[in-house]
Amino acid sequence: MKPVRAVVFDTDGVLLDSAALHAAAWKTAFDGCLEEWGADGAPQRPFDAEGEYRELVDGKPRYDGALAFLTARGIDLPSGAPADAPGCGTVWAVAARKEKAFARTLRSQPVEPFADVEPVLEALAGAAVRCAAVSASRHARPLLEVAGLLQLVELVVDGTDAARLALPGKPDPALFLEAARRLDVEPAQVAVVEDALAGVEAGQRGHFGLVVGIDRAEKPGGRAALLEHGADVVAADLTPLPELTSTSGAPP
Ligand SMILES: [Mg+2]
Repeated sequence: MKPVRAVVFDTDGVLLDSAALHAAAWKTAFDGCLEEWGADGAPQRPFDAEGEYRELVDGKPRYDGALAFLTARGIDLPSGAPADAPGCGTVWAVAARKEKAFARTLRSQPVEPFADVEPVLEALAGAAVRCAAVSASRHARPLLEVAGLLQLVELVVDGTDAARLALPGKPDPALFLEAARRLDVEPAQVAVVEDALAGVEAGQRGHFGLVVGIDRAEKPGGRAALLEHGADVVAADLTPLPELTSTSGAPP
């Protein structure tokens, strides 16, 4: 394998302790519509903010996440339009409910970086490994800034860029490939670091040199699922990264 010259990090759940806030916002968005979506007077069961979040929603753009959940539950809604007001009647309206709930959460709850992030980013910089962050969320850049991480990465490709460039969401590798392109490093020399199943799948589809799955919760089956979806290696946090990226480039 070629030496790793750059690392592209997912943001939510990898750099920022924000995945639980996203999951909670999805739960607010979905659960408020369950009655309306029920059939024959029986409401749908509540959203599972762990299993269903992980399998269907985590890492995806809002519309794709809402659609995946609705499809899995057999709920057939019209797409609607991106300008739809928050509601239960279209996929875009449900996505808007999530956005509204997440924005409300952010006003009351600060998002913190994980403790291992800053030392690892500094170690990588010290080893001349370049770092970028990607996210499907339009909130990623301001959140990274508030968390004090923006100056530790060279660039960010977030939901705003994705919308402007019409990049498809994960599991498509477009976000990661855009980051690699801007860093001017070929994917074979880039390590992708992801906590979402859709994210490690994107890393594999993009033929990146190394795909690192991050399993911070260490729940049963978490590691196996990341490996199955395309991770080359799984770690509980970012601490092994400086060594993983240096040894991956060692001559045979
Ligand atoms: Mg994530």
